[in-house]
Amino acid sequence: MLNEDELTRYHSHLMLDWFSYITQTRLKRAKVLCVGAGGLGSLLLLYLAAAGIGEIGIADPDTISLSNLTRQILYQTSQLQQSKVQAAKERLEQLNPLINVKTYPEKIDNSNVERLIMSHDVIVDCSDNFETKLLLNDVCASKKKLLVMASALQHKGHFAVFDGYHVCYRCIFEQLNITHTSCHENGIISPLLGILSSLQALEVLKFYAGKDNIRDCLIEYDAMALEQKHFKLSANPKCRFSHPSRPAASIHINYKRLASLESLGDKNYLLIDVRSEREHQHDNRGGVCIPLSSLKAKLETFSRAQMIVLYCSSGKRSLVGCEMLVDEGFTNVFWL
Ligand SMILES: [Zn+2]
Repeated sequence: MLNEDELTRYHSHLMLDWFSYITQTRLKRAKVLCVGAGGLGSLLLLYLAAAGIGEIGIADPDTISLSNLTRQILYQTSQLQQSKVQAAKERLEQLNPLINVKTYPEKIDNSNVERLIMSHDVIVDCSDNFETKLLLNDVCASKKKLLVMASALQHKGHFAVFDGYHVCYRCIFEQLNITHTSCHENGIISPLLGILSSLQALEVLKFYAGKDNIRDCLIEYDAMALEQKHFKLSANPKCRFSHPSRPAASIHINYKRLASLESLGDKNYLLIDVRSEREHQHDNRGGVCIPLSSLKAKLETFSRAQMIVLYCSSGKRSLVGCEMLVDEGFTNVFWL
């Protein structure tokens, strides 16, 4: 449940018809790992914290240096030589005290990559080297974890989202024909990092909203021409990972508020009143009464193929019930 402070803080997102209260409660329980707290990580982390991602993990072994500050806008001049993850944690918790920021002041390598990835739902790659990108890709591809990747150099950036199905970063890595990612050695126009990290933050929020992420596609953004090209990606047959087709159920989750039962027409659905038995008897609007406190125990008796509509008096309990069903894997759930 969201309290009054949260309802106020997240109001502009809650007003979106594709976002909803349920998405916000999912964000509250979300665990997102940001690998790299530099130019990409700076704006990404601010957006994730502001949006209410409940747990943000930040992995970066570096300290803040003067030459970082053109692009790493999370940090202040007064914080030079401080640990990036610690400075980031302090800044993010000032922005949103309702979230939990965990710091990992360590370089991602074979000894820690699986532990870090498996303790988060979504991995955002904000690293600046291919070794880390491939390491993240390999674990995410084998574990089917969502990996939101970006890289940029000079005035060009690349952006893609992988989920282990169909194609992965390793499939396309050689075709990208990029030999460097170091901004320090090759230069970077800083706002380009803001554009790419904003795309990364958007895809994270879309994931928790149950919306389709951009997939099987590489976006190349040219900051000089302000041009964006989309390249369709397909698996490399020589890739070490097999990339099965994406199961349909993983990309379409249906949970919506209904204005009225009449809007469903003659569709077949199970109507459940989640109020108490006493309330149901006093004001019976139809369906079966299963009080919210008993709903979880009854889930096994419901068909996952059937549309389920929950109602109560104000909509609050039916929404919580709806969320409970979605969390248990039901995909065709509505609330009144
Ligand atoms: Zn692959």
